[in-house]
Amino acid sequence: MQTPHEPQWSTAVPSPRLRRDLAGPWHSEAACRRDEAGLFFAPSQEPTAARLSREAAAKSVCARCPVLLECREHALLQPEPYGVWGGLTAAERRVVLGRRRRRQSAEAA
Ligand code: SF4
Repeated sequence: MQTPHEPQWSTAVPSPRLRRDLAGPWHSEAACRRDEAGLFFAPSQEPTAARLSREAAAKSVCARCPVLLECREHALLQPEPYGVWGGLTAAERRVVLGRRRRRQSAEAA
């Protein structure tokens, strides 16, 4: 069985943006390997309450995942535009990326 995130690694054409150092076996240890794939990605036209509930359930899986940090960094570096990765929603990842960009800009100034 594949994880919700595994197809992008193992069955799709590899992304040219995929960093080799994060293309390792971490996804084989993913806690989400044992969960429903639908938990991590929104179905079309998902009501807000259902989305919040689904995302909370996905994050609870991430919280016990041994590769949370690797997964999160992968999602930030790609960047992955959809779904819960590394315990963060797409909106939360955008916030993290914005903070990183501002910090890098400040350090470069
Ligand atoms: S951190 Fe979450 S999304 Fe990432 S591999 Fe683990 S369970 Fe799956």
